[in-house]
Amino acid sequence: MDLHLSGKVVLVTAASKGLGKATARQFAREGAKVVICARSEIIEKAAAEIETETGTPVLALRVDVTQPADIERVINATVEKFGGLDILVTNAGGPPPGTFDDTDLTAWENAVNLNLLSAVQLVKSALPYLRQSIAPAILTITSSSTKQPVKNLVLSNSIRLAVIGLTKTLSQELGSDQIRVNSILPGWTYTERVDELLNARTAKSGKTKAEEITSINAGVPLGRMGTPEEFANVAVFLCSPAASYVNGVMLQVDGGMNAGTF
Ligand code: NAP
Repeated sequence: MDLHLSGKVVLVTAASKGLGKATARQFAREGAKVVICARSEIIEKAAAEIETETGTPVLALRVDVTQPADIERVINATVEKFGGLDILVTNAGGPPPGTFDDTDLTAWENAVNLNLLSAVQLVKSALPYLRQSIAPAILTITSSSTKQPVKNLVLSNSIRLAVIGLTKTLSQELGSDQIRVNSILPGWTYTERVDELLNARTAKSGKTKAEEITSINAGVPLGRMGTPEEFANVAVFLCSPAASYVNGVMLQVDGGMNAGTF
C-alpha cells in the first residue's frame, strides 16, 4: 500500500533514540522530509544514521521540549528548511518512576511541563503551518497506563490522561480544518526508557531483570514486549494520508495487554 508520505514534512520530537527515533526512521523510509530533535548531541548521530540508510535529508536540532523558545525554534527551522509542516508527532522523555509517597511537588510540576505543556506548546506553534497543509495530522505519544495504571509510575499514570483529553479535544476542534489528531498508547516496548524502569523495579523488588521481564511478558497475550519498529509502523500509518478517515483514536499498541473492551 502507498502511504502517500513522499515529500511530506514531518517533525518528530524527542527522537534521538527509542520510539521517536524509530518513528522518524520509518517516515524517512517512506520518503518524508524529517526533522528530529532532542537535548543531547546524539540527535545529530541519529540524523546521520537515518540519512545514510534512507538517502533522505534529515534535519536535527538540539531542543528541550520543556522550553517554549526551543519549540518556536524547531518549528521555525522546519518551515525554513522544508517550506512547511504536514505532520507533527509530539513525543518527550518519560517522567521518573515512583509511587505517590516518593514523589514531591517539584517532580509533579516537571512532569506536567515535560509531558503535557510540551504537547500544548508544540501544537500551538505548529498549527498555523498544519492549517496550510493538504494532509495534516498530529499524533501524540502517550501510554497504555492511561487505560490501566502501571505500578510505580504515578506521574505517567496521571499526567498522560491530560494528554489524552487534549488529543481528543483537538480531534473535535480541528476536524473542520481537516487536521486529524490521534494518540498511540504504547504498552511495554523495549527501549532505553524501559531498561531504566526495569532497573528501578529490580531495586525495589530485589528480583533480577530477567525475572521482571518474565513477569511483564506473562501479562501480555503475545508473551513479549514490542519493538520500537512495531510501534513506528503503526505511528507512520496513522499519520499518513492512507489513514485519512481515522481521527480521535486512542490506539493501543500493547500486544493485547489491556484486556478492557473499550
Ligand atoms: P527513551 O528511549 O528514553 O527516549 C526518550 C527520548 O526523549 C530521547 O531521544 C531523549 O533524548 C528525548 N528527550 C527526553 N527529554 C527530552 C526533552 N526535555 N526535550 C527533548 N527531548 C527529550 O524513551 P522511549 O521508550 O522511546 O519513550 C518515549 C515516550 O513514550 C516516553 O514519554 C515514554 O515514557 C513513553 N512510553 C514508552 C513506553 C515504552 O515501553 N517504551 C511505554 C509507554 C509510554 P535526550 O535525552 O537527548 O533529550
